[in-house]
Parts: sequence; C-alpha cells; structure tokens
Amino acid sequence: MEFDPELKQGDILRNDDICRIFKCSPQGGMRRSRRKNCLVIVSDHTKSIYEDRWENDVFHYTGMGLTGDQSLSFAQNRTLNESQTNGVDVFLFEVFDPGRYVYQGRVMLATKPYVEKQPDVKQYIRKVWIFPLKLIDHTTSSIITEDVFHRKLTIRERQAKKSSDESLWKKVQSAPRTCGVRHVISKQYDRNQDVVEFVKRRANGFCQLCKNAAPFSKKDGEPFLESHHIQWLSQGGDDAIDNTVALCPNCHRKMHALNSEKDKILLRELVKS
Ligand SMILES: [Zn+2]
Ligand SMILES: [Zn+2]
Repeated sequence: MEFDPELKQGDILRNDDICRIFKCSPQGGMRRSRRKNCLVIVSDHTKSIYEDRWENDVFHYTGMGLTGDQSLSFAQNRTLNESQTNGVDVFLFEVFDPGRYVYQGRVMLATKPYVEKQPDVKQYIRKVWIFPLKLIDHTTSSIITEDVFHRKLTIRERQAKKSSDESLWKKVQSAPRTCGVRHVISKQYDRNQDVVEFVKRRANGFCQLCKNAAPFSKKDGEPFLESHHIQWLSQGGDDAIDNTVALCPNCHRKMHALNSEKDKILLRELVKS
C-alpha cells in the first residue's frame, strides 16, 4: 500500500474530508485520485439507482455508467477491474444518511466482476458490471446501528413508492434473487416474562382492544396474543402490568402503525380497573 489515509473502519466523514484526504473529485461513485494513486468508491444508498449490497463479507458494487450497457474498459470500471495489477489502492465508503460517508476500509476484488441485467435511468434493461469486493484489513463491514440501517430502508421504501408500475416491474424482474445480508447493532429490551405471562392470563384469550378471541391457538393450545406496552419502552414506558396489555396481532400492528390517542386511553382505562 502506497497511501495510508489514517482512517479507522466506521469513521464518518463529510464529502470535503474525502476530497481533502484522498485528493479526489467531490462527485461520483468512483473517484480516481492521480495524486494519491488510489480509487475512492462511494456507495450512496440514499441516491444511487443501484442496490449495492453486502452478502456477508463481500460487497457487490455496481460499476459506472447510468445509461446503456456498461463496459469493463470504461473509465474507472477499468481501473477497478485492473486494481490487482495496476497498483491502485481502492477505498470504500458507504452512505446511509445524506452527507455522512462511513469509511469501510481498503478493498480488493474478491472474484472477477460479473454481469447483471438492470434497468438504466431511462428504464431500458441493459448490462451492468458488478464488482465483488472484500475488505483487506477486516473480515466484515463496519457495524452500523439499527437506526441508521432503518433510515436507509425508509429512503429506499420512499423511492420504491415513487416508481411507476412499469419501472417497478422492470426492477423486480432484473433484481438479484439473493438477499443482501449485513450486520447491524440492535438494542433489545430484556422484558420481564412474568409481566408477559400475567398480562396474557388477565386477557383470558381475548384481545384487549378489539375484544375478539385470539385468532388462533399455538401448538400447545395457548391462545395467540402478544403483549404490548401502552407507553412504549423506547419512550420510557414501564415494563409493568399497569402499562402492558395483551393484543391480537392485528391490533398490535395497528398500535405500532397508528398509536392513536383514543386507543391508548381505552387501554389505559382497562389496565386501571
Ligand atoms: Zn384485536
Ligand atoms: Zn407493542
């Protein structure tokens, strides 16, 4: 390695920092720096039309070229394709939040690039090159928090909602069948199981919001209900029987999607008595 950017995996940079450290252009997914003899790869999940993804320890990165067939000899596709022999170091960043570049590290080709069919910006199905990249100094991608990951999914969800039927059809036809996998840090509530059991017994097989019987029974015969905190634990609610109810799965989803004041008052009254 000729150039050491002195960054740690997981460091978050701004675009100016990247240009300053790597002496590269402020734009684009593949930024060649002649001065540092390196190639900076930015996978911006908030903007890109591509679904770059980790499959465990390999990052599947889509090459350059927004319209028409991509070519391996085009611009930085070529630099990356030849990176094992041309002496150019390759550095990877990912963006989950607009303007925040998460440094992953120095990468190399894990295997030869391969072709996929994907719609271009004008919705024509064309050939793209996917570069399987692996980190040189680490075995896995830097671990991001669940919130950051969810923000990325929300942005993607919004973009999908905006797609026309035709564009959506083209995208799902050409999408890879393998789902991306990445590690995220999640916070788990270590909930008191005595409270859960008490609340279910109190509900006696009936949802406490719609009053219907549990929709089915589990294999052991217990009516299927889920326990729910009226004031969410994430908002400081107590893990106690006067803040917990048993709901059918529908009502439970409804409380998490709408959390209406009217339903909350109803449930609060119920646990008081
Ligand atoms: Zn219900
Ligand atoms: Zn809940």
